[in-house]
Formats: sequence, C-alpha cells, structure tokens
Amino acid sequence: MHYVSTRGHAAAQKFSEILLGGLAPDGGLYLPAEYPQVTGAELDLWRSLSYADLAYEVLRKFATDVPAADLKALAHKTYSAEVYRNVRAGDDAGQITPLRVLEEKDGSKLLLQALSNGPTLAFKDMAMQLLGNLFEYTLAKNDAKLNIFGATSGDTGSAAEYAMRGKKGIRVFMLSPHKKMSAFQTAQMFSLQDPNIFNIAVEGVFDDCQDMVKAVSNDHAFKASQKIGTVNSINWARVVAQVVYYFRGYLSATTGNDQKVSFTVPSGNFGNICAGHIARMMGLPIDKLVAATNENDVLDEFFRTGIYRVRKSAETYHTSSPSMDISKASNFERFIHDLLDGDSERVRALFHKVETEGGFNLAGGPGSDGDEFAKIGNFGFQSGKSTHQDRLDTIRDIEQRYGVTIDTHTADGVKVAREYVTPGVPMIVLETALPAKFNETIREALGRDAERPAGFENIEALPQRFEVMAADVAQVKAFIAGHTGL
Ligand SMILES: *Cc1c(COP(=O)(O)O)cnc(C)c1O
Repeated sequence: MHYVSTRGHAAAQKFSEILLGGLAPDGGLYLPAEYPQVTGAELDLWRSLSYADLAYEVLRKFATDVPAADLKALAHKTYSAEVYRNVRAGDDAGQITPLRVLEEKDGSKLLLQALSNGPTLAFKDMAMQLLGNLFEYTLAKNDAKLNIFGATSGDTGSAAEYAMRGKKGIRVFMLSPHKKMSAFQTAQMFSLQDPNIFNIAVEGVFDDCQDMVKAVSNDHAFKASQKIGTVNSINWARVVAQVVYYFRGYLSATTGNDQKVSFTVPSGNFGNICAGHIARMMGLPIDKLVAATNENDVLDEFFRTGIYRVRKSAETYHTSSPSMDISKASNFERFIHDLLDGDSERVRALFHKVETEGGFNLAGGPGSDGDEFAKIGNFGFQSGKSTHQDRLDTIRDIEQRYGVTIDTHTADGVKVAREYVTPGVPMIVLETALPAKFNETIREALGRDAERPAGFENIEALPQRFEVMAADVAQVKAFIAGHTGL
C-alpha cells in the first residue's frame, strides 16, 4: 500500500513516511493509491471482534509497513476501556463506541454512537490517542524527536495534549487565545502538569494564533532545525483511525451484510465524514452519509448546489457548536479527488481557484468548472444545517423524550438526521462531544448543568500551568527554540 497526493505531483510514500507530516510537498493531501476492499467474509468475521481487534484489522490494510504484532499491540494500548471510561450511565466502556437506540417506530430507527468517552470528552480522542502511540513508536524506532506546534480554540488542542502527554521524544507547544476558551476547556488544557506540554495563551483571538502557526510553518529552516510537526485534521493517520468506528457502528447496528445503515456526522473540517466516505469506498454497506453543519454552512451549500464557496474568517459565525465554526473544510479535497475520478490536474486547478477566487462550481452549465455534482448521489452524500435555536430545541426534546443529554454539536447532527431517517435503514448519529464540554448552552436549554463524568467535578479549581504571550512570531519562536531540548 502506498500513498499519493490528491494533486498528483508527490512521489509515492509508505504509511510510516507520511505519518509525521501534513500536506504533501505539492500542497495536496495524501490518499492511498487505491482503497483496500473488504469482503463479506471479512465483515462476518469482524462482527464478533473487540474494538481493538477490529481497529487492527482495518488499520493493517492501510499501515502495511508497520509489523503486524506491533500494530496489534498499538491498537490494544489505544482502544482500552481504561482510556474510554467516560461513558454514560448504563453504557459499556468495553465497547469503546457503544450504540444507543434513541427512537424506533414504524420501521425507522435513530441511534447515537458514543465517540466521546475518551480523556477529553470529544471524538477527537478516537484518532489522536492512536496518533500519540504511533508517533511514540515510530520516533523510538528511529531514535528521533518531534515538537508538535499548533493552535486551538478548544477540542483539537486538548485532544493532542492528552494523547502526547508523557510520550518519549515528543513535546507539544499549543497556542490558544488568552481568556477566550470556556472555563472547562481552559482547565482541561492548562491543568496538565506534564513537563513535555507547553500551553501558550496568546493575547489575541484564534485567528492570531493560526497566523502565528502559519508564519512558523513557512519558515522551513526553523521547522527543520527544531523538528516541528503538526497534528491537524488533514493528518492521514487521524482519518484512518476514524474509519474504524464506521465499521463498528455498522456491525453493531446490523445482523447481516445485506443490510445498510446511514450515518449523520456533525461536520466542520470534513475529517470525520471523510472517514465515512473511505469506509464506503472500501465496500462497507453505507446507504447515506449526511453532513450536518451549523450556521457555518459551506458544506451544506455544496451538497445542495454543487457550489463550493469558502468564507473569510470575518464572515465565520461564532456559534454554540464552536468546533464546527469552520469556513474552509480542510479535508474536502480528498472527497473532490474521488468525485473527479482521481483527476489530479483538475483537483490542483480547483483548489488553486479556492485560494485565488474563493471557491469553485461543479454544478454544470455556463461558466462552471465541471458537472460532477450530478454524480454526487453515487457517493451517498446528503446534508442539512442547524441553528442555535435548533440546538436548544433538540437538546430539550432528546432530554424529555429519552432522558439523554446531548451536546450542541451532536444536537446539530440529530436535528439534521431526523430529516433523513428512512424506514428499514438505521440512522446512526455520531456523538462528537459530551455535554459537559459545552455547559453554557446546556444551561440555556435545560436550566441546569450538564452531568460531569467522574474525575471532572472540580477541574476548574486545579492549579494551571501556562505562559501568556503577545501575538508575536519572534517571541514564540524564541520560546520554542528555548524549550525543545534539541
Ligand atoms: C472537531 C469537531 C467536529 C467537526 O469534525 P470535522 O472532522 O472537523 O468535520 C464536530 N464536533 C466536535 C465536538 C468536534 O470537536
């Protein structure tokens, strides 16, 4: 198995070679040269596997250059009930991503797949925990070091820190906007006392943080000398790790391979749902993949019209499902590559147009860039959007009917999923965070606090360790260089 760039101009690479990198050298994203396929016989065997063994079976189709015994050990270390212990009362932590039936009537079925039982209470742990273990394993093999540098407005940064804390050869430098994250998110990150984790609170907004990361990324000499890497959502290993839970959800919701299921995915950067698309391309019998957005509806607009029009950061709304406040979906290029039958020249031209003109149009007709939108049905995609009022209504409704509290992002998913439920095809909504993370909106919807998993009761009171810094690239570079231990 080797990997190529969506833009076609990068040499073929192995899994381990792209593990620590981000973009391909030509600015594209890595994809396998061909998607590995699953057979019905394999699916039958996989039905009874534990999550860790299933993860191993899926991962080994992609990570063919990691020795099988090592990959199996990494899967078991990552997907244990000990790591994913923050389950709802009544759920079994041993299942890692337990399914819960919300609604069953007239042959229709709406289910919730819990992906947020890991250490930071959001689905990003599912992939990031694997990445932490894979990084440590690969670095140790090559006697190498890595300094992860990134910016976060909440979920990604904390998932990265909890995945990398205490890992040999790895340090994390994470920028966040000073006093702009929720008290819970701030406490989650800043209470980490591990000496390899550095939280830098920037006097500015999230965009200032991201600009600083871009400035450092463009300084190739600094990046190379300080061994700087990233863990953003385009990382291929993160996408692959997410493929596993689509298999788990399908196998848990069905009894035979002649049945289909649909998934609704609260979406921002298109990383999560891209993994669903890949599972489908591998042959998993997925009927529909429904992208749910909030008020930032770039993806919904594309799946309704064929027009992809990114927004400027000033046009991005700050919403109560903040992890989906994204105006340019960084993994979308992977899907467009497949929609265009792998025509990398056209992918390159379209994403160049995104940079220069802010988007492209595949709806066909005069002045369009192509007519592939007509083929979108072949890939099973549908979409919908949800607003703040929808989130409040949905959180209240799900609480009243089923006694389950869902977070704001999951509420966007449930709202949209209900528009697409069809008899005979179970609809699985991916639960991307637990409500405790977004308590302000839970209070607004329910007039009470969200329940907190054990161990999180008093995190705001724990001592915090962080540096405050001006939005100044020279200063952050000096800080990194002084703390990489190189
Ligand atoms: C990151 C995140 C999303 C969006 O996922 P993408 O892979 O960026 O589409 C949705 N919900 C929560 C809670 C998240 O943290």
